[in-house]
Parts: sequence; C-alpha cells; structure tokens
Amino acid sequence: MKKLSLASQIFIALVLGIIVGILFTGHSSIATTYIKPIGTIFLNLIKWVVTPLVFFSIMAGVISMRDIKKVGSIGLKTVIYYMCTTAFAVTIGLLLANLFKGMFPVLQTTDLAYEASASVNFMDTLVGIFPSNFFAPFVEANMLQIIVASLIIGFALLLVDQQKEIEFESVETLNDVFMKSMEMIVKLSPIGVFCLICPVVAENGPAVLGSLAKVLLVAYLAYFLHAVLVYSLAVKIAAGMSPLTFFKGMLPAIMFAFSSASSVGTLPINMECTEKLGADKNISSFVLPLGATINMDGTAIYQGVCAIFIASCFGITLTFSQMLTIVLTATLASIGTAGVPGAGMVMLAMVLSSVGLPVEGIALVAGIDRIFDMGRTTVNITGDASCTIVVSALEK
Ligand code: ASP
Repeated sequence: MKKLSLASQIFIALVLGIIVGILFTGHSSIATTYIKPIGTIFLNLIKWVVTPLVFFSIMAGVISMRDIKKVGSIGLKTVIYYMCTTAFAVTIGLLLANLFKGMFPVLQTTDLAYEASASVNFMDTLVGIFPSNFFAPFVEANMLQIIVASLIIGFALLLVDQQKEIEFESVETLNDVFMKSMEMIVKLSPIGVFCLICPVVAENGPAVLGSLAKVLLVAYLAYFLHAVLVYSLAVKIAAGMSPLTFFKGMLPAIMFAFSSASSVGTLPINMECTEKLGADKNISSFVLPLGATINMDGTAIYQGVCAIFIASCFGITLTFSQMLTIVLTATLASIGTAGVPGAGMVMLAMVLSSVGLPVEGIALVAGIDRIFDMGRTTVNITGDASCTIVVSALEK
C-alpha cells in the first residue's frame, strides 16, 4: 500500500477531529478529559524540542554564513520585511473592521471584568528581550532571549577562531541531532492535530454561533485577504514563485498551525515545508525561528479588528490619529507576542490602552479567543515562510 504523505495524513486528522468534535458538542467534557491530554503530550514534546532547536539552528545559521556582515544584511532584510507586512496587516484589519462596524452590537451593560497582565508596556517588553541569566531563557522557554543568546554566541564563534572548523562542526552536529529529534516528533503530528482540534470544536461549537460570529468573520476575512494579497505578491515578485505552489507547499504547516495555535510549535514543520519549496536551509534556519518569535501578521490583524469591535461595543468612535497609534502599537505588540496559544490576547491590552479603550473589553472576545488564535497563527507562520522564500531569492 502506498504511504499517505504527511500533508494528507494531517488533513485527514484535521477533518476527523472536526467531525468528532461536532459529535461531542454538548458533551465536551469527554473530549477535554480524554482527548485533549494526548494533544497536550504532543505539544509538550514539541515545546521540549523547540528551545534547543531554535538555539542551535540560529547559531548554525550564523556560522554557516561565515561572515558577520552577511548575517547583518539578511537580518536587516528580514526585519524590514516583517515590520512592513505587519503594519500592512493591522491596516487591513482596521479597514475591514471599520467597513463592517455597523454589524457590531452596542453593549447595554458594562459589568465586564478582564485583568490585564502587569508587564504589557513597550519598554518592559524591550528590556525583557535581554537575558540576565544564562539558563533562565531555556528554563522559561523565552524565545526572544534564546535568539539573543544564540546570536551572541554565534558571532563569538565566528570571531574567536576563524580557523577552527571543529567548533563549527560540533554546533552543526548538535543542530542535526535536534532536527532529527524534531522530525521524529513531527511524524506524530496527525495524532496531535486530531487531539488538539477535537476538544476545541466540542467546546466552542455553540458559542461561535452567537453574535461573536460577526467579528470572527471579519477577522477571518482580513486574515484571508492579507495572506492572499501580500504573500502571493511577495513570493511572485521577489522569487518568481507561483502563489499556488507556495500555498500548496505550505499546506502541512498551515493545517498544523490552525490546530495547534502555536507559531513556535509549528516551526519544525514550517522548516520542512519552506525547504521543500526551495528556500536556502541556512536562511530558513535563521529567518523562521526569528519570525516565529517576532513576526505576527495575523495577531496584528486580530488586534486591529478587536480594537474596532471593542470600541463599537462601548459606543466609542476612534479618530484617524488613534488608528495610526493602533497601527504602531499593534506592530510593536506583535513583536513582543510569544508564539504560543493565547499570547496575542494578552498583548491586546497594550493596544487598547494605547488609545484609551477599556481593557475590560477583552472579556468580550476572550471566550472564543482560541478560534481567533487558530486563524491568526496560520497567518503568522505563512508570513514567516513567505519572508524565507523572499530573502532566499534576494540572496541568490
Ligand atoms: N498563537 C499565536 C502564535 O503562536 C500568537 C497569538 O496568540 O497571537 O503565533
């Protein structure tokens, strides 16, 4: 019997997970008690492998270029691409939400409660990027700090002793070892996908049918438009790749992101997909982990849409300059958002407070955050992949 490709396996798992989830609506406790934990085991394994993977793959990416200037040039292109697409993403979110604002309800009651987490201001986020302890970033799985550490050590390796290939080889070997471990774990992803999506459908099924459906729809429309417009154009113009080829090649990662709602968790599969699409391995090993951590176009769209939604619910109309502030803060907030489920909602507090919107408004969308999250994560990782393809083409 011919073996099904991983993409088909994941697709089947996704569809089955949704069907079984629908069957369990109303009895969601069965799905959350027995199926969800297996998904959690799978996510735990991914989380376990992803810290050393990011650490060694960025380090290997840096030393493979053998030249600090080249790292700088790729890094600069990457960051510019990430920032521009993210700012564009919030703008699309804001535009669409404004267009459909009339559909959003105005609230009668205002007894909402949402406690914003303490450190959502920008300077704290900035300081938080730099580790003060060697081991803490690994223990806390703080991706931005791990990236900073791996960049410093990668540069140091290049500077210390340009001749000693053996040091480079040991980093590359360690990188290969964790890549292999990752491959083994990724093979389990059809099971993981099934067990992750099924309880979400079972729990959220009825909730999504309510009035929140409209804001969800607007967000998904914006996700879709952004992905189709921006990423198609980018891969077509910069790399001459047909958008169809791109999205088709990305399907396994897209389905995985959709069910796991974690950019960092999707990183291993994303690496495989972009390499199959012809991205340079040295570039993807540098651009993707960075993207999974700082590039969140879907999250930015979500923040734009939710800001308008929450404003409407409270009967507030935002001015043009407030919208510009949202573009800026959402772009920055998306950098500080960790690539794990639910992180974007925490950062929404920063966006809302930047324009004086009530942070309690988050309570309105919190119940179905997972559904927003699945879409925004999908956009997030597709953006990372498009950047990898673009930068690979530019460097050629
Ligand atoms: N879950 C998203 C991600 O991993 C982040 C977010 O919550 O917006 O990309």
